[in-house]
Amino acid sequence: MHDLNVLIIGGGIGGLSAAIALGRAGHRLTVIERDPEWSVYGVGIIQQANVVRAMDQLGVLDAFLDAACGFDAVEIYLPSGERVARVPAPSLVPGKPANVGIGRRALQKVLGDSAKALGAAIRLGVTATVLEDDGADDSGGVAVSFSDGSAERFDIVVGADGVYSQTREAILPGAATPEFTGQGVWRYNFPRPADLDALHVYNGPVGVGLVPMSAEGMYLFATSPEPGNPHYPREGLAAAMRGKLANAAPQIRALAEQITDDAGVVYRPLEGLMVHGPWHKGRVVLLGDAVHATTPHLGQGAGMAIEDALVLAEELGRSDAPEAAFAAYRERRYERCRYIVEKSLEICHGQIGKGPQVDNHKATAEMFAVVSQAI
Ligand SMILES: Cc1cc2nc3c(=O)[nH]c(=O)nc-3n(C[C@H](O)[C@H](O)[C@H](O)COP(=O)(O)OP(=O)(O)OC[C@H]3O[C@@H](n4cnc5c(N)ncnc54)[C@H](O)[C@@H]3O)c2cc1C
Repeated sequence: MHDLNVLIIGGGIGGLSAAIALGRAGHRLTVIERDPEWSVYGVGIIQQANVVRAMDQLGVLDAFLDAACGFDAVEIYLPSGERVARVPAPSLVPGKPANVGIGRRALQKVLGDSAKALGAAIRLGVTATVLEDDGADDSGGVAVSFSDGSAERFDIVVGADGVYSQTREAILPGAATPEFTGQGVWRYNFPRPADLDALHVYNGPVGVGLVPMSAEGMYLFATSPEPGNPHYPREGLAAAMRGKLANAAPQIRALAEQITDDAGVVYRPLEGLMVHGPWHKGRVVLLGDAVHATTPHLGQGAGMAIEDALVLAEELGRSDAPEAAFAAYRERRYERCRYIVEKSLEICHGQIGKGPQVDNHKATAEMFAVVSQAI
């Protein structure tokens, strides 16, 4: 199918990747984003070798790498602070780094600039209030009413509106909803020491990671058991995060002393979601966290959303009918996404005593073997 008029709901990582992949295939694009400021919280994200490959396929690799910090190894530390391994990470794009850390704002800029350059109209502070799908035949389409009072007809709609997707609720009302896992994650930015040239992972009851994010910056993440899913008010977040790190390795405790700005702490309860049934209804299809939201234990959530976007664009290009393309897209994506969601949850449950402990190192190697396969 060619020259489709496409609405993408959600201007996050998955929605913007879809805008790029579909824009490169020659479709006409409108992206609506609920947040009028299009704000993104200021910590970073790990993107592994399959994402570097996906960025290459999206045609944005140079801009992506310029905005990121590449690294080719993962260092594993004991809770005592002793380094036990430096594991090389293989690259999937010759001559390019295996993994990168990148600020979420920097990633959004790279993806947003590229989507705009491909002609996507980005409408901020807008949601879809009504989606009226009137059929699968050639003359069919989706009549969409927007929250600003405007309306337009589209050939297809892509719901990339995240883990609490309203599009999912609208088209798949009985589908899974997000479930709290029992764990939360705390993040904070620091200057990057010049010799921090790898992802550093500390195992223990509170798991800690140091992620290089740019030439100057890194972020620290810490996963902690959070029974009862407590609410942490903004005031006092820095002290609460320092408290979570009170028994961490000595070098992490030294960093924790610098966690003093409540506004700089990003805390989030961890949730998971997997939609096992169809990912579309009629001419409306879902991608990213809307259908498979993972905990971050394998660092692959955004990677799965970006790969979804590439596969969706490919399948639309191969098919004469949206529904056939959507079914083929889900068929190609389901197993890999299910694996990431379930394996990440196993690691999470092992860490908080809700299940057997998972050997993180082994799980990461196994995950890499899975995601290095062609998408
Ligand atoms: C703590 C944590 C750490 C993570 N770390 C990593 C990592 O290191 N590596 C990795 O690959 N992944 C990581 N992830 C996962 C990653 O953040 C998500 O998988 C990814 O953001 C999913 O992209 P998305 O576009 O599907 O959803 P989102 O990024 O959530 O984007 C959805 C967008 O839709 C907008 N929106 C919502 N509702 C509407 C609506 N009704 N109308 C219009 N717009 C709407 C939102 O404002 C948002 O901009 C992490 C996740 C968490 C929670």
